[in-house]
Amino acid sequence: MPRRLLADLADVVGAGHVLTDPAIVAGYLTDWTGRWSGAALAVVRPADTAETAEVVRRCAAAGVAICPQGGNTGLVGGGVPPADGATAIVLSSTRLTRLDGVDASARAVGVGAGVTLAQVQRTAAAAGLAFGVDLASRDSATVGGMIATNAGGIHFVRYGGMRAQLLGIEAVLASGEVLRRWRPLRKDNVGYDLPGLLAGSEGTLAVITGALLSLVPPSRSGAVAVVGADSVAHASALIDAVERAGMTMQAAELMTAAGLDLVHRHGLRRALPAGTRFAVLIEVAGADVGELAAVLDRAAAAAAVLDDTPAAELWALRERHTESIARDSSTPVVKLDLTVPAAAMDAFVATVQELAAAAGARPILFGHLADGNLHVNLLDVEPGRAEELTDRVLRAVAALGGSISAEHGVGRAKAPWLSLGRSPVDVATMRAVKRALDPDGLLNPGVLGL
Ligand SMILES: Cc1cc2nc3c(=O)[nH]c(=O)nc-3n(C[C@H](O)[C@H](O)[C@H](O)COP(=O)(O)OP(=O)(O)OC[C@H]3O[C@@H](n4cnc5c(N)ncnc54)[C@H](O)[C@@H]3O)c2cc1C
Repeated sequence: MPRRLLADLADVVGAGHVLTDPAIVAGYLTDWTGRWSGAALAVVRPADTAETAEVVRRCAAAGVAICPQGGNTGLVGGGVPPADGATAIVLSSTRLTRLDGVDASARAVGVGAGVTLAQVQRTAAAAGLAFGVDLASRDSATVGGMIATNAGGIHFVRYGGMRAQLLGIEAVLASGEVLRRWRPLRKDNVGYDLPGLLAGSEGTLAVITGALLSLVPPSRSGAVAVVGADSVAHASALIDAVERAGMTMQAAELMTAAGLDLVHRHGLRRALPAGTRFAVLIEVAGADVGELAAVLDRAAAAAAVLDDTPAAELWALRERHTESIARDSSTPVVKLDLTVPAAAMDAFVATVQELAAAAGARPILFGHLADGNLHVNLLDVEPGRAEELTDRVLRAVAALGGSISAEHGVGRAKAPWLSLGRSPVDVATMRAVKRALDPDGLLNPGVLGL
């Protein structure tokens, strides 16, 4: 049966796009963190929506599951197939790369799901516009993956996440039908928000093949500061002072002494004195370095280094965290992406440090502070203790009224803890939506725990 299906799929997409060579397929079967691996009959790469729909129909007829994958930069194991891959394929969006051109009057661009964020940004810039979402994984992360995870990123504080950028969507349902909402209208309240439903669906409701994205006017150039702080509350107070001064906050990123030491050891120059407990990177649009410095001075900032945008050297301090952490840990990093209520931030940071120390692990925290979003990275976690440590941290954040997933999604990594983030009625409603759109459970089984 598998051989027959693979021959069928080769008829649809061409034999060169049904990959089975273990050496080539390996890169699609393990996620970016190295913690999650699966197996699959093949990696299938359709060229367009029609081929994608045919692949879905043929897999459904054969009872074979589909794991949609974009740039494979997701951090919760949602883009790799389950371990019992005898009955799954990876459906890669690598070839869904059409660019429709910018509609300047509507401030919109239509793109294929496999187009990377960096390509969207370049396309928008060439038309004198910008895209509201930005992530450090921009060169590999795709539009389809970013919608499926409802990615947030560094400019969330100003523009919101992927759901907020969606004007329209094109997606293949489990039935093989093509859902297409494709009008660049800002206001269009005719029934349920189906593009919004697919944002955050993590490949479990449909295979996204394209999106109509909203673009924004480019920001006026501005200033970036990396500022020392004694506590997370102090860092938050600095952000508050900058916002109350009427400045347009473009990004506000928290870092800790441990993270700054790490990127320093991995080759970056120190911006602040060693031992600075916390640092916050603040980017404002439409104000200069002098204006930002004056506000920070009035707000009693400790040490600060400032530069005009784009301030690549200062941004590198924050953006190199993820890669340096991955390189520095002796075991696959346990990555937990959480929202913590503002008033509980310092207590939560102390709790994580205690829990990590008790388990012999090394914690490095950073995150999008203006959104209450902390990325907890636990390095050197002994094999076999990852689950127990994850459980303790997720229970601590739930007890404080936070969220167990801020922007990376649930994937396979957090599926067992779904009930910590959603009530029984909420989970039952999500299950009902899943059953309605994918009655045979063929789309990304195991992801989201539904
Ligand atoms: C250095 C680094 C920095 C990062 N920074 C951020 C950040 O600031 N904010 C943030 O939110 N994330 C961040 N991430 C995580 C990651 O980049 C995002 O989750 C991104 O949205 C994943 O896109 P992708 O194309 O790589 O998706 P993949 O990893 O391939 O897949 C992710 C999920 O989307 C599903 N999916 C993929 N394509 C489709 C499709 N066409 N149709 C349906 N489902 C699909 C998959 O099944 C999976 O569940 C970062 C990752 C790295 C490595």
